[in-house]
Amino acid sequence: MTQPKESLDSSCLEFSNVTYRYGSVDALSNVSFNVEAGDFFAVMGPNGSGKTTLVRLALGLANPTAGEIRLFGVPASKFDRWDMVGYVPQTMDGIHTQFPATVREIVAHGLYKGFDPFGFWRRGRQEVVERSLEVVGIEDLADRRISAVSVGQQQRALIARSLVRRPKLLVLDEPEAGVDAAGQEQLYSVLRRLNTEQGITILMVSHDIGAVLQEAKTVACINRTVVFHGPPHHMTQKEISDLYGLPMDVLLHDLMHEHR
Ligand code: ADP
Ligand code: MG
Repeated sequence: MTQPKESLDSSCLEFSNVTYRYGSVDALSNVSFNVEAGDFFAVMGPNGSGKTTLVRLALGLANPTAGEIRLFGVPASKFDRWDMVGYVPQTMDGIHTQFPATVREIVAHGLYKGFDPFGFWRRGRQEVVERSLEVVGIEDLADRRISAVSVGQQQRALIARSLVRRPKLLVLDEPEAGVDAAGQEQLYSVLRRLNTEQGITILMVSHDIGAVLQEAKTVACINRTVVFHGPPHHMTQKEISDLYGLPMDVLLHDLMHEHR
C-alpha cells in the first residue's frame, strides 16, 4: 500500500489536467488545482458548470476521462484511506428524513463500516458520537427525530456524521442550499471552527458568494474549466459577473439565495 503523506504542508487533493466526459459532453475540461492541507477551498460556478462532477471525482465515485487526481499525494485509483475524507451531501436524502431515526442515530451511522453487530456501540464510539454532536452544536437535539429539526440542523448532523471518522479533508456540496440565513451563519461558524481549531481542510462547493468571500482562503471558479483560482480578494467583480453572466449586485442580492 502507498502511504498517504500526512505532513502539515502536504497536498490534500490535487487535480492535474482533469477532463470528465458524459458521453460526448465535457462536464469538466482540463481542470487543475491543488488544495493544500489547512485550506478552506471554495468551488463556485453556475448550474451545470461541473461542480458536482468535481466532487464525485474527488471522492473516487467517478474516474477522470483524462488527467490525474491525487489524494494526500496518492493517485485516486490507489487511494484506500477514505476514512480521511468526510463527505457532506447536499441534503438529507428522503430515506433519512422519512426514516424514524434520531439525530444521534444519524450521526452514529458515520461509524458504520459494514456488518459489525458487536462493534457498533463499543465503548469509546459513543463518546466520539457525543463529541461530534457537541462540535457542531446540536447536542440538545440528539434525541429528536431527524425529520423534526431544521434543514440547517440536518446539515450540521451530516457534518457530525462525517466527523466521527476524524477526516482530514471535509467535502461539502452546496451545504447552504435550503438553509435560512441564521442557519447558514451557524453552518459557516461550524466550518470555520473545524478549519481553524481542528485543522480540517475544507472543500466547499457554494453559490453563496458573500460566504465564499468571507470564509474561503482559496477559490476556484469553474465553468467546465477553471476560470479563476486564487485568494477570494483577488477575484474581480467582473470575473464573478462573467462567471454567472449576471451583474454583481444582482448576484449578491438574489442569486445566492435562489440560483441553486
Ligand atoms: P453542477 O453541479 O455545477 O450543477 P454537474 O457536475 O452536476 O454541474 O453537471 C455538469 C454537466 O454534466 C452538466 O451539463 C450536466 O448536464 C452534465 N451531467 C451531469 N450528470 C450527468 C449524467 N449522469 N449524464 C450525462 N450528463 C450529465
Ligand atoms: Mg451540483
